[in-house]
Formats: sequence, structure tokens, C-alpha cells
Amino acid sequence: MTGIEAIPKISELLHLLIQRAKDRQTAALVQQIQQHQLVIHAALVEAEAKIRDLERRLDEEKAEEIRIHRMIEFRRGKRTAAKWVAFCPKCHLPAAPLSDEVFGKTFGAICSGKCGWKVLLPKQLKEVREELGN
Ligand SMILES: [Zn+2]
Repeated sequence: MTGIEAIPKISELLHLLIQRAKDRQTAALVQQIQQHQLVIHAALVEAEAKIRDLERRLDEEKAEEIRIHRMIEFRRGKRTAAKWVAFCPKCHLPAAPLSDEVFGKTFGAICSGKCGWKVLLPKQLKEVREELGN
């Protein structure tokens, strides 16, 4: 049960307490508690609406188009300046081209996070990226 779900139940219980109160002073005290509870409920509802709005805006900011091409995860969106960028399909960190100096004439891509993922390619990573078009 969330806080927002609990408050209406508290309100019901306070209403029962008001009905069962044996004197006016006790009923007045319970009514004061009920009024404070209504203020808390309104604040929680407002805070939850703000959180939902922030989550929606964050999802919009993070929205990316994703394609798997030649075993590489390519993404484009706001954080890639709307350009296709290679990512590791295993851990989703950016992928880097394999260096010719280390691997001779072998082309490929490797995880920048060093998770162990790498793939060999028939051509350079930038040429593979160009196969995706715009
Ligand atoms: Zn990785």
C-alpha cells in the first residue's frame, strides 16, 4: 500500500472515530487530525503528479532509435546528436573500432567498458555505420 492509498483508509477510520466519539472535544480533535490528513493527501497527490511529469520528460530525453546491425547495437537520439553511434550489445556502453595497430588489418568493434564483447567486421566500423544511412 502506498502513502496515497493509505490516506483514504485513514480518513475512513477517522470518520468512524468521529461517529464513536463520546464527547464533542474528542470529535473536534479527530476532525483536526482529519483536516491535517487532507492537507498531506493533497501534497502527496501533487508530488506524485510532479514525479510522473519528470519521469515522462526524462523518458523523452533518453528516447533513442536502436538497431542491431552486424551484431552491433547502433543508437541515435539526443545524446548522439541524432547520429548513429555504435554501442556494445552486451552492456550498452559505447563501442570503439578495433585498432589496426593491435589487430593488423582486422576490422571490428570492441566495448569501451571492457566487458569482453568484441566483433570482427569485414570493413571499418565507420563504413558499417554508413550502411545504416541517415
Ligand atoms: Zn560491453
